[in-house]
Parts: sequence; structure tokens; C-alpha cells
Amino acid sequence: MMKRIARTRPSKIPLRWRLTIWYLLTLGVILLLFSAFLYWQLRRNLYAQVDSTLQLAASQALLNIDTDGDRIAFQNIDGPSGAGQHPNDDLAFYLLAPDGALVDRLGLETAVSPQMPPQAGYVTLVTGDDTWRIYTQAVTTGDAAGWVQVAQNMDPIDETLERLLNQMTIGVPLALVLVGVGGLFLAGRALAPIAGISRTAQSISGSDLNRRIHYQGPADELGQLAQTFDEMLDRLQATFERERRFTGDASHELRTPLAALKGRIGVTLSKPRPALEYIDTLQEMEGQVDRLIQLSNDLLFIARLDQRQRPLQMGLITLHDFIGAIMDQVSPLAEVKHIDLRETIADDLTVQGDIDLLIRLFLNLLDNAIKYTPDGGKVTVTAQVKHQQVEIVISDTGPGIPAEHLPHLFERFYRVEGDRARLQPGSGQGGAGLGLAIAYEIARAHGGQLRVESLPNQGATFVLQLPIR
Ligand code: ADP
Repeated sequence: MMKRIARTRPSKIPLRWRLTIWYLLTLGVILLLFSAFLYWQLRRNLYAQVDSTLQLAASQALLNIDTDGDRIAFQNIDGPSGAGQHPNDDLAFYLLAPDGALVDRLGLETAVSPQMPPQAGYVTLVTGDDTWRIYTQAVTTGDAAGWVQVAQNMDPIDETLERLLNQMTIGVPLALVLVGVGGLFLAGRALAPIAGISRTAQSISGSDLNRRIHYQGPADELGQLAQTFDEMLDRLQATFERERRFTGDASHELRTPLAALKGRIGVTLSKPRPALEYIDTLQEMEGQVDRLIQLSNDLLFIARLDQRQRPLQMGLITLHDFIGAIMDQVSPLAEVKHIDLRETIADDLTVQGDIDLLIRLFLNLLDNAIKYTPDGGKVTVTAQVKHQQVEIVISDTGPGIPAEHLPHLFERFYRVEGDRARLQPGSGQGGAGLGLAIAYEIARAHGGQLRVESLPNQGATFVLQLPIR
């Protein structure tokens, strides 16, 4: 069954916009939190600063108080500059009787009226447009008692805070707009190669798999994506071409014997003939039909192997006995050509495998070895354990295989002799070029490997590696 990728509902907003929106939302929240923090922090600090100024001023004012019996008054009635004692001329100082009646005042003229009834500590008063911060402290000097109050207008501070708030109200949205435009531009630039990739993907059709992205940018995520895409196209193209070649070759292989049959029938039917001649023709036709049956069986077999229709029937196989039985089967062919056929395999060597498939594999390899080895030659089979694998080697003393054919030898319908052998039905070497392809697929289905080694005129060596399970 094909795997499906789970999909969420596709969004109609382009990715570029979605990225920017998410970015802006995140940045907006961060900026808001940061601005709020900044505002509250500044407000707190400014207020704390005012409170400590008021307290300091009150302590200094206490030093400048005169007593006259139970009356109290500021020493420096002329103003703060006279004594230089008062730290701040933005401040208003009041002296109050214990009952809260105003006794004396100093500093700012237009200050707020004193707080009634007096109570030690800080208080914030709003009078008309102004906001005042007032600090009250008790006074006890000799018999005299009362209160000293220091007031400061908070409007300059509130104005500073308001200015900051106004700047933030303009600055934050402006920053978001600028960042949004920049983000949109950057997202567009970052995603531009994707548009190129999808354009290429759209222009690729089943009949034209030649196009590639050939991404020129850096080897980042997109570079890797483009490269993976190109490599996938390479593989697809190779598979497509193999399939195309396979179909072409298969039809060619089927057509040749069919055309021969048709020609033969036409010639035979062209005039009446003696019965013996019909028998002769039919016998020859039977040979062609056998070839066709063999070919279609091979094709069917390879198709089933490809589709893994039949699970492997794995079993334990004792190699010595197994290869011995196959050799018995092919020995009549070897005897005809006086070929020395022998094996050296340890009695206890075993492999796990599907016996029917392995019979087919070894029959193909031994059949070829005997077929291509000249009279009086030698075919040997050896086996040993190597690198956690069983390695079975089939060598012959035939003509070998020219180096340029080796890379293609296991391809379907590939023949070293090309069409020549097939066109000579009598030669006995006219296979369809599927035998080695089948052997290769069987080895692969077992999780093993089949490879060939050959030097000119030094015979061919096929090496089969099967995993030990
Ligand atoms: P065929 O059925 O035509 O023999 P194979 O797939 O079995 O097809 O073999 C493909 C080609 O490999 C053959 O055309 C043959 O030339 C070459 N070949 C296979 N085995 C040997 C061998 N032992 N010695 C020399 N050539 C071989």
C-alpha cells in the first residue's frame, strides 16, 4: 500500500505572508511586554526618587526650625536661597500646628494647600490639573510640636512618562511596520529558490525527465532540497529508461521468433507439400515456440521477483549436497564437451535460502559456464565463509568477458554477443540475456550480492555472497 502523508487543511495564505505574520505577532508581543516593563520600571524609579528627595528635604527642613515657646517657625523666612539649606526650590515646605493649622510656609508659592488632617508618610493629591506628592513628618522640638510637610509637583514627571508613552505608541507600530516590510522582503528572498524548484518540477513530465534544478546557491537546507530533488530525478530517469529499454527489448525478443514463425508458415502454405516436409516444419516451429515459452516464463519470473509477489521460502541448505545435485543435473552437458566439472565445498557449510530460487540461480550460472567454456575446459565451484558471509565462486576457463561489458552484464537482455548469437539459432548460445539478470535479482532478494570478475582469455569468475543468518 502506498504511504500517504497526513495533511492538514491547506492554508490559502502564501507561506511568505504567513512567516511574516507569525514573525510580526511574536515581535509585537515581545515589544509590548518590553515597553510595558520599561514604562513601569521608569515610573517606579522616578516616584521612588521623588519620595527620597521629599524625605531628605523634610529632614533638612527640620534642622531649620526655630522654637518660640510652644510655637515653631522656619528660620529662614526669606526663602531657600538665603540659608542655602533647602535642597530644591521646586518644593513647597509647610509647618503645621499639631491640629493641622498652617503655621509657616517656605519655597514654592503656588503649591498645594497642606494636607488635612496631617498624617506621617506619603500621599498623592490631585488638585485641578496638578498632581502633588506630599511627605509629612512629625516635629517635636522642646515644648513645641507640629508637622513639617514637603510637597512636590509631579507634573514634570508625569509629562516625562507621558512623553515616553507617546513615543512608544508611535514607535512600536512603526517598528512593526518596518520589520514587517523587511521580513516580507527577507522571506521572499529566502523562499525564492523554492519557486524555482516548483517551476522545474512543473515542467517535468513523464516524457521529459532531463531537466534538473542545478541550484547555484549555498549548500543550506534549500541547497540540500534541490540536490535531493535532482538526485531523485536521476534515479527516476534511470528507472524510466531501464523500463523503457526493458519493454522495447522484450517486444523485440518476442517479435523475432514470431516473425520467423510467420515467415515459415507463409512459405509452407504457399504450395502443397509432402507430409514429411510438414513434419519437418512443425518440428522447427516447435523449437521456436519453446523459445517463446521460455522467454515468457523468464519475463513472468522476473516480474514476480520485482514485485516481490512471492515471499521467500527460507530454509537451511547444506551447500555441498545442494551444489552436488545441481552439478549432476548439468553434468551431461559438460560431458558432451569434455569439461572437467568439480566442486570443493566443506561438508558442513550451510546457507539460509529459498531452494527453488537458488536452484535457478546456480543452474543459470553453471549453464553459462559450460556453454561458454570450450571443449576440454574446466568449471569449478568453491565456497568459503568470508566477512560473515558465505562466498560461493564459480569459475570457468572460457574466453572470459571483455572489460567494457562487465558493468552491464547483469542488466536485463544484455548480451555480450549482441544480436549475433540470437540470430544464429543453431549456435546453441542464443539466450535472451535474462539468465544473469534473474540470478542477480535472486541474490538481491536473499540480501546477498552477485558480481563478476574476468580478464580476457582467462575465463570468467562469478562470486555470489549470501549472508549467514
Ligand atoms: P544468455 O541467456 O544470453 O546467456 P545471460 O544473462 O545468461 O544471457 O548472459 C549474458 C551474457 O553474458 C551472455 O551473452 C554471455 O556473453 C555472457 N556470459 C555469461 N556467462 C559467461 C561466461 N561464463 N563466460 C563468458 N561469457 C559469459
